[in-house]
Amino acid sequence: MHTFISAHNLNTFLNTLIAAGTRVVAPRLNAGTVLYEPLQNAAELVLDQLPRRSGKEAFFPLCEDIMSYRKEGQQVTLQTVDPALFPETVLFGVRPCDAAAVPVLDAVFSWDYQDEFFLERRRKTTVIGLACTSADDACFCTAVGLSPAATAGSDLFLTPMSGGGYRCAACTEKGEALLQQHRGLFSPSSDHEPLPLAEPQVERIDLARVKAWLDTHFEDPAWDGIATRCVGCGLCAFVCPACHCFDIVDEGTEKAGKRRKNWDACGFWKFTHHASGHNPRDQQPKRYRNRIMHKFKYYDDKFGQTLCTGCGRCIRLCPVGIDIAAIVDEISTK
Ligand code: SF4
Ligand code: SF4
Repeated sequence: MHTFISAHNLNTFLNTLIAAGTRVVAPRLNAGTVLYEPLQNAAELVLDQLPRRSGKEAFFPLCEDIMSYRKEGQQVTLQTVDPALFPETVLFGVRPCDAAAVPVLDAVFSWDYQDEFFLERRRKTTVIGLACTSADDACFCTAVGLSPAATAGSDLFLTPMSGGGYRCAACTEKGEALLQQHRGLFSPSSDHEPLPLAEPQVERIDLARVKAWLDTHFEDPAWDGIATRCVGCGLCAFVCPACHCFDIVDEGTEKAGKRRKNWDACGFWKFTHHASGHNPRDQQPKRYRNRIMHKFKYYDDKFGQTLCTGCGRCIRLCPVGIDIAAIVDEISTK
């Protein structure tokens, strides 16, 4: 069922959460760049731009400590991080392409190993999605089966209205519970219509055809052409809402240090570099092939969907202009 919240009441809603100690992570300006970050006040919100990086950091930080150690004489002290201490969080203003990546990550982090660092944050987070009213040339959510109004991954979903304020729909019990806690700020309906939604200018890509080609073309001369420009900077993985590779590294000395979980990227030359010195992906095209294979074949083999939500960030930001939508579209015609 839909309900309505005015812009003023929305600010009150967020400020009430912040005052109560809830971590509210939302798009805000940081040194000229919009990022999903904890708000001090709802006045900091910037809702007219897709944040530069995705919302996955609310559950899966770029870098986090897992434990620390200290050695004094023969005595070694370990200090672990207790996920139970992670704060209750509302991830607010999440675009459909970012929200849809949340269940994609859930599947990975609860598959063969229950990653309590990710899962405890997920349990404690309510995701409030926001419909998109503008798209640029890089957006292609519709090509991968999503839309500017897709509610996948959202607990509550807001749609901007022509007269101001937002239509609000609860998509899960968690969302409904949050809505009921703040019922007084919502009204039954609005006299206005929703603002027109964004219209990404990309046709639906036949992902079944893409996968069928990938299933049979691990070795193909096309890979050399597809990724010769890639410089292996890893940016595409770091800005992606669905990429989730990480490395666990011990940092410190024999006396003291930390075990940390850091994002990794298959574009990096060391990504599969073995201790023996052998690297099965010893050239950049092999590494870029892995990116495409993982997103449109391996993840699909395991979890039945693609690992790309069409947010377009990797297209906008790739320093050498590699366009994953164009590559996948071309594969779909082979
Ligand atoms: S952002 Fe571009 S250059 Fe950098 S790793 Fe990704 S595809 Fe390669
Ligand atoms: S692969 Fe590129 S377009 Fe697809 S979800 Fe990741 S960053 Fe967005």
